[in-house]
Formats: sequence, C-alpha cells, structure tokens
Amino acid sequence: MSTLSEFHPSNRILMGPGPSDVHPRVLKAMATPLIGHLDPEFLKIMDDIKVMAQATFQTSNELTFVVSAPGSAGMETVLVNLLEPGDEAVICIHGVFGGRMKDIAERCGAKVTTVESPWGQPIDAQQVKIALENNAPKLVAIVHAETSTGVLQPLEEISQMVHDAGALMVVDAVTSYCGAPLKVDEWGIDAIYSGTQKCLSAPPGLSPVSLSEKAVQVLEDRSTKVQSWFLDLTMVKNYWSGAKRAYHHTAPVSAMYALREAYRLVLEEGLENRFKRHQENHLLLRSQLENLGFEFLVDEPFRLPMLNAVKIPEGIDDNTVRHRLLSEYNIEIGGGLGAFAGKVWRIGLMGESSDANHVNMLTSALQSIL
Ligand SMILES: *Cc1c(COP(=O)(O)O)cnc(C)c1O
Repeated sequence: MSTLSEFHPSNRILMGPGPSDVHPRVLKAMATPLIGHLDPEFLKIMDDIKVMAQATFQTSNELTFVVSAPGSAGMETVLVNLLEPGDEAVICIHGVFGGRMKDIAERCGAKVTTVESPWGQPIDAQQVKIALENNAPKLVAIVHAETSTGVLQPLEEISQMVHDAGALMVVDAVTSYCGAPLKVDEWGIDAIYSGTQKCLSAPPGLSPVSLSEKAVQVLEDRSTKVQSWFLDLTMVKNYWSGAKRAYHHTAPVSAMYALREAYRLVLEEGLENRFKRHQENHLLLRSQLENLGFEFLVDEPFRLPMLNAVKIPEGIDDNTVRHRLLSEYNIEIGGGLGAFAGKVWRIGLMGESSDANHVNMLTSALQSIL
C-alpha cells in the first residue's frame, strides 16, 4: 500500500449541533507533551478540572468528575449507577435524547414510565405530576436542552415535584451547559451529565458529570453490582478523588489538557457574560433569518440560544442547500432528525461558534444560495 498523505481538513465553520469551533488555546493545549496519567502533575490537572466543573455546574457536589467518553456515556453512567433491575423510572421524552435515556434505562432493567410532549414543545410539568402520583419512581430524567428540537426545558418546578415525591432529579445538560443558566444545587438536581463539544467548545470525547450526596447514597445502597464495569462509579470515584487515586483506566491525557484550557476560557469570560453572549448572538441570528423569511420551530419562551431550529422554506431542498453551504462556504449546519428530517435546519451557536461573524457569514451565504 502506498503511503497516504497527511490529513489537512478544510477550514470548516462549525454551526451544527456539535462539535463547535475550538479556541486556538485549546488546540495548543492538546499538542503539549504527554505525561503519565498517574503522574502527580496529571493528578493536579484532574483536580483543576474537578474544581472548574463544580464552578460551571454551580455545585459543591463532591462527586463531580469527567467520564472518559462522550455525552452518551455520561447519560449511561448516571442511569446505570442509579438504576437497579426492577426499579421504577420516569423518563421525559420531547425529542431524540429523551428517547435515548429511555432505551438505556430499560437496558438497566428499570420499569420505565414515559412522559411525552410533541417534538418542538417542552414537557408539561402537570404531566410529570400525574406520572409521580401513579408511580413510585426512584428517579425522573429529563433533557434540559433538546438538541433535536431546539427546546429549552424549564426545570425548577419539575425538580420541586420530583423531590416532593422522594425521587432523584436527573438532568441531561449536554447542550445547555456553559451556554445557558444552569444551577445544579439551587435547582435541586441530583445527577447531571454534559459533553465537551457543545457550548464548552472542547473536542468531543469527554463527559462532565456530577452527583449529589443523595444520589451517592443511592449508589452506595445498591444491592446489585453496577452492570457496567467501565462506568461503575464505585470504582471510578477512587481514581478521581480520595487519598488512593487508584488506577482504573488510562485517562485520555491530551483530551484532558484541552478540557482544562476550555474551562479556563469559560471562567475567564465568566458564566453570566457567556450566557449573555449566547443570547445576543441568538437574537442577531433570529432578526437576520426573519428578514430572510424564516420561521422558528419553537415558541419564543422555549427557544434555545445555542441551537436554533428553523423551518426550511417551502420548495427549498434540504440536502442541496446544506451541501452547498459546506462545499462552497465551508459552513456546517445540522439537518432535522426523525420526523423533522428535510423539514428543519438546526443552526448551532455554541461556545466559540456563538459569534456575530459566524451569524453574518451564515446568513449572507444562505441569502446567496436561496
Ligand atoms: C449531543 C447530545 C448528547 C450525546 O452526546 P454525545 O457526545 O454525542 O454522545 C446527549 N444529549 C443531548 C441533549 C445532546 O445534545
């Protein structure tokens, strides 16, 4: 076989549902020399990451760490550790990712009740209340920012109901984290997971996770072993904290360098400033797209700033336009999923990609194409 040439990707502008653009400082961090994953200097990096994960989740949860795998693994970590075969779980589904949580909970052997809302609308708190009255779930799981539909799910009222019923509140914050207000302790969230490639703007492949003391107690009270060896927090937590720092698996060293730098960028900017920037660029995109005649899928109060779902105008071919955006303008946007395939575009303004220049480039490219 002849030698392949070096790979040089095109200079893409990432405005899809993730990954988002990455700051040069993060890329530089990834290219620094490897050290051992039990080197005291690396353990310090893990400690730094934990402190910055707590700050960004707005929590003092001791069990706050990063799963060495993407957001879906964070989802699986939370569910596989908290659910035992035969447990009841209420899973809220308002898009693709709620459906994924249900699939995982069932694989854990849980008895699942679903609360659903039509795609493009948030879950109705009253429906959750009814599910809590008719069942005795150990946990209720819900997606904060449904990336498949562009819906921002209000959490506080539901969290209150879940606690009143004595259950754990589990939240998917893969897309909202570091892009919209999210207060783990204040909102009473017991278990939360995110990803690195959305509003955190680090490369994909890691999943920040946090569990409250109550959730840790549920883990400790298990009568069966966690079904997954790799995701078993009773072992993983000894690698992330405590005196032992025992070997569990080889941490992805370079990816952790990148995450540390991405967190530093988030905290330098400040969470409130970052949320404001995401909101402002969303409003800029909205005004420009509305001038071009586009309509949003989601009602205004529930629109995500970082994931804009817009209806594809009548007579416009989805694939042709997205292909031209990519090949002629180097811009990636997302297509619709499931029932929305061919009907909706999903425009990401996440992290480094939440930027006025990105908005202007996209709308002028769309204007030329259409
Ligand atoms: C992207 C996403 C996930 C899955 O994350 P991966 O890193 O792709 O595994 C889960 N939930 C939501 C809401 C997401 O947007």
